[in-house]
This record gives sequence, C-alpha cells and structure tokens, in this order.
Amino acid sequence: MKIIELLKEKRGVSFEFFPPKNQKDKDILLETARELSGYNPIFVSVTHGASGYQNAQKPPIEYTKETVLELKNTLKLNVMAHLTCIAHTKDELLEFLSFYRKNDIDNILALRGDIPKNGERRGCTHAKELIELIKEHFDEEFCIGVAAYPEGHPESPNMEWEIKYFKQKVEAGASFAITQMFFDNSYYYEFLDLCHKANIDIPIIPGIMPITNIKQISKFASMCGATIPSYITDALENLSEEDVIKKGVEIAINQCEDLIKNGVRHIHFYTLNRSKATLNILKALKL
Ligand code: FAD
Repeated sequence: MKIIELLKEKRGVSFEFFPPKNQKDKDILLETARELSGYNPIFVSVTHGASGYQNAQKPPIEYTKETVLELKNTLKLNVMAHLTCIAHTKDELLEFLSFYRKNDIDNILALRGDIPKNGERRGCTHAKELIELIKEHFDEEFCIGVAAYPEGHPESPNMEWEIKYFKQKVEAGASFAITQMFFDNSYYYEFLDLCHKANIDIPIIPGIMPITNIKQISKFASMCGATIPSYITDALENLSEEDVIKKGVEIAINQCEDLIKNGVRHIHFYTLNRSKATLNILKALKL
C-alpha cells in the first residue's frame, strides 16, 4: 500500500533493515522483523548497497530484492525498497523498478547513494533525476520517498543550499521524506521550520537510531554528519557494554517522547537488524 495514504490515515512507526548476506543473518533479520511486526509498522524499508557488500557474492541490489520479497511474502509487511541511482545505468534502474512493480512493491525510497570512490556516475547524478525517471516511466504507480538531512548533507555548504535541493526533490514528485539520524531534536524542529518557510509540506519522518555501541555510532554519525551532543557522549563514557545499551535506550525514549510531545505522528527506527533496543523503546513509549 502507498505509504503516503497510510501516513495521512494514522500515527505509527516504521523500521529500517539492511539485506543480510548469509543464512544466519537472514534468520536473525526474520526474527527481528517478526518481533517488531507486533507493533503494526506502517512500513518497513530495506536498504540498497551502502557499505558492507564489497566482497559479497552477488551485486548488492540482488540482496535488497530478495529481502524485500521475503519480508513482504513471509511476514506480509508493507515494504519500501531503497534504490540508489549513482552507480547504475538508467536501463538497470528501470529493470529494478519493473521488478518491484511486478512484485507489487508500491514504495521506493529514491536515493543518489554515495559517490563511488572512482568518482564514476552512471545513471543519475542526483536523487531528483531518479524521481523524474520513475515518474516518466511509471507515472503514479510508485509512492516515492526521499532522504532529508536536518543538519544538512555533508556535501551541502549551508542549509539554504540543503533546502533548495530538497525542495527540488519534492517538486519532482517525492511524497514524503525520512531524515538522517539525529540526536538533538532542535535540528529536526529547525529543519521543519525551514521547510515550512520554503512551502515544503510533505511529511518528514524523523529517523531515530538507538545507540547500542559507542564506536559504531560515532563512526556512523561522522560519516553522515550527525552531531552527537556532549551530554550524550558524557553519559555513555566509561559504561559497560550492557549499560551503554540501557542508556542508549533511555536516550532514545527521551528523544521520542519529546518528538511526540511536539506533535510528531510517525517515527522511523534504524534497527540495524536487531529488535531488542527498538522493542524496549516502543514498550516504554506505549505505542
Ligand atoms: P541527493 O538528494 O541527490 O543530494 C546529495 C547532495 O547533492 C546534497 O548535498 C544536495 O544538496 C546536493 N544536490 C542535489 N541536487 C543537486 C544539484 N542539482 N546540483 C548540485 N547539488 C545538488 N545510502 C545507500 O547507499 N543505501 C541506502 O539504502 C541508503 N538509505 C538511506 C536512507 C535514508 C533515510 C537516508 C537519510 C540516507 C540513506 N542513504 C543510503 C545515504 C544516501 O545515499 C547518502 O546520504 C547520499 O550521499 C546522498 O543521497 P541523497 O539521495 O540524499 O542525494
């Protein structure tokens, strides 16, 4: 079902997963998705590519396609496929989109993806061009989501630039957006304000990453330009692994409570294919 219709109808949550490369990780993902499905997510999404597929046996898109179908067919979830465009030709992109259409996948997160190390761009240079390609060949058949960056994309020199190109994605046909992870809600509220001033009025779903490991979160945050406030790093300092997870859950609960208090109706969780932290947050939020 098209996500935008569901967002209009009801409050709720959604979960991001990445495609596993072996049977053991596949079993873990299915168990995670099964547990989280008890919270009736509006949708779940499956990433495409990103890092970690350098030595994989198949092209990254094949893992994404398999996982999308598995979650849809086995657990009957409403699945959104991420599609990154920079490293694929337009013909390849159209082939992937036809595959999703044939398999009744209604939702695509249209992304540029990170620029390959050799700098080569094959299909579209920016996410906006992928949206245009989808609209040209599939008209209104897909509901299209896009990425949003409350602190600005690392390549954007300032927020004016960020909003200008974000708006172009909306004008090209994006129906909703999901934000990059952030830990200080004031970035999200300021971003919403800038969007409002620029007459951008699509739903912008906050993306929340529960902290479960300090090294890992610091790496992710520095890669995507998300600020980890010092009150968080101070609170996590010198804690045991187990206590970091507990504290990370507590931090995410506070963050979500504040979002809900400020009128947010939908929250997207970056699960990293594990359910425990997200389940604890959802239990505490009584969602
Ligand atoms: P774009 O919207 O194209 O923007 C990229 C940069 O170019 C921005 O600075 C923008 O301001 C600028 N820009 C846009 N148009 C123009 C123009 N015409 N001229 C000049 N500058 C322009 N990555 C993956 O590899 N796989 C995933 O599954 C994945 N999922 C993600 C999910 C979410 C919710 C988010 C927030 C990010 C995800 N990413 C994923 C990361 C994303 O691919 C990277 O952040 C990438 O560097 C940018 O993608 P984009 O779609 O935001 O690009």
